[in-house]
Amino acid sequence: MGIFSNRSVSLLTKHGKEKVIADVLNTQVGCLVQQTDAYDTDLLGTFTQETPRYGSQLDAVRKKAAIGMDLLKLDLGIADEGAFVNDPHSGMIPWNNELLVLIDQKHQLEITGFSSAPAQNDNAYLSYWEELEKFADNALFPSHYLVIKPTDEYHPQSKKGIKDLAELKAAFEWAKGLSSKGIIYVENDLRAFANPTRMENIRKATVDLANKMNSLCPQCQTPGFWIKDVKRGLPCNACGLATDQEIAKVWGCLKCDHELTEGMKVFKLADPSKCHHCNP
Ligand SMILES: [Zn+2]
Ligand SMILES: [Zn+2]
Repeated sequence: MGIFSNRSVSLLTKHGKEKVIADVLNTQVGCLVQQTDAYDTDLLGTFTQETPRYGSQLDAVRKKAAIGMDLLKLDLGIADEGAFVNDPHSGMIPWNNELLVLIDQKHQLEITGFSSAPAQNDNAYLSYWEELEKFADNALFPSHYLVIKPTDEYHPQSKKGIKDLAELKAAFEWAKGLSSKGIIYVENDLRAFANPTRMENIRKATVDLANKMNSLCPQCQTPGFWIKDVKRGLPCNACGLATDQEIAKVWGCLKCDHELTEGMKVFKLADPSKCHHCNP
């Protein structure tokens, strides 16, 4: 029995995230998720330009967790905050980072879960229905919902959560009527319930969090014993100089100073293709 089992944990969301978060935490950690939407999380930021995000992704997720705990009068709270960026490798692919935080006031603990994956996040400016139909196909509509605005993405009016062809047609006509040059802006709806690709990434971040909640410090038994540093500098097989390839992971405790260095099982050298000296 861990310190989280059979405890109620608050989850503030109005976007259906409890479906995956409760599923993972109930089965893997044994805590009971209580969802609330008594506070409008859109006040802390929207993806559709109306409201900028409250601080950093971590600031926003901590704030949501604190509000949820307060509303439900619980000493354990969880929240999720997503960010949409370009992929960290080529910068060309729409990318989604999901950050979860678990706050345990009773044990003075904060544990985070994270997942980073390709996103379904397309957008376009267009004028004709045929273009919109083609865009919708590529944007995985209708499994993924759409947002339409007149003129551009900064237009104050929008139709969100468009989920069938009749709604799409109506939104298209509506936006054309309001657009000065007959141009409309369309994008994927990024809210969790409207974007199954994102919902799956939230599930992965929750699994990451659950794994950390279940990982206890060998010395003091505090949950959240996890990798806190990665040592790099594996020597190149050809020239012997240090590369940025990994040598070892350092695991650490959130409470005590216990650390474990998990080195490589077999000593090896870095492939010269990873060497800045041999293959700049
Ligand atoms: Zn080299
Ligand atoms: Zn410890």
